[in-house]
Amino acid sequence: MASDSDRGNLWSKITKFFSGKNADHVEQAIIEASQDGELEADEGSMLLSILRMDDLQVQEIMTPRTDITAVEETCTVAEAIEAIVESGHSRIPIYRENRDNIVGVLYAKDLLEEAIAPDNHQKPVSGIMRPAFFVPETKNVLELLNEFKSKKNHMAVILDEYGGTSGLVTIEDVLEEIVGDIEDEHDAPKEADIVALEGGQAFLSGRAYLEDINAELGTSLASEEVETIGGLLSHIAGCLPGPGDEFVLGELHFKVKEADNKHVHKVLVSNLPPRKSENHADAGSE
Ligand code: ADP
Repeated sequence: MASDSDRGNLWSKITKFFSGKNADHVEQAIIEASQDGELEADEGSMLLSILRMDDLQVQEIMTPRTDITAVEETCTVAEAIEAIVESGHSRIPIYRENRDNIVGVLYAKDLLEEAIAPDNHQKPVSGIMRPAFFVPETKNVLELLNEFKSKKNHMAVILDEYGGTSGLVTIEDVLEEIVGDIEDEHDAPKEADIVALEGGQAFLSGRAYLEDINAELGTSLASEEVETIGGLLSHIAGCLPGPGDEFVLGELHFKVKEADNKHVHKVLVSNLPPRKSENHADAGSE
């Protein structure tokens, strides 16, 4: 966790960079400060992520309906325990007849109490569910974060414009937008989106944002149409690039290392500009 002195240090850097700048220039100031090594790369990424959240709707970060683990209200305590153990999630929505009609949320901790009394195992879960918290797909992510804080309820069921279930969002999904992926006990380990290597090279995940790449690697990638490197290479190719495909953008050379028929997973970028803060970064834990 950041200490008070770390926080004070970051705050003084932020006030220094933003003083006298209007909102339009804040993003550029963060990118420049990161490129100059005056902000740490992860500080720059977090600040850019917070700015991005101003325009971010919950539908862009939700777990989609098709991936939701949910059980019907007539399901027994024993069946619900099985669903929770199998999915690894600690809260699951409860529906009536179909998933468009969510009527509550079941918490694993409430099930524990029932689980210790075998007589309760055949009871329907409808007796122990809690109310669901519904929000529309178009809700702003920062507003949802505030509601999560004030309601002390950290899961929202996302509704489409017709009142059907579109997905769900938990506080973890919101925090991941700021700090990057948070690995749970049941998550498979994930690689960082940007991994700088020796000799002016870096591995990028296809979902790495152009802004973050610019901030961390000192590049100037830009696009009106797309936000990620996978999107940019697909846009240039006019189709989804496959492993081995190569691209030259200015001085930079990109080679797709891993891709499937839906996503670019891993890209090697070479010929990166030397970083002004290279000595500083080398002295760190990289
Ligand atoms: P948990 O630890 O119970 O999985 P988190 O709040 O840590 O809950 O969420 C981790 C990820 O799992 C998030 O992306 C969230 O949207 C997703 N998630 C949480 N509960 C469910 C569920 N019942 N079905 C599908 N995805 C879920």
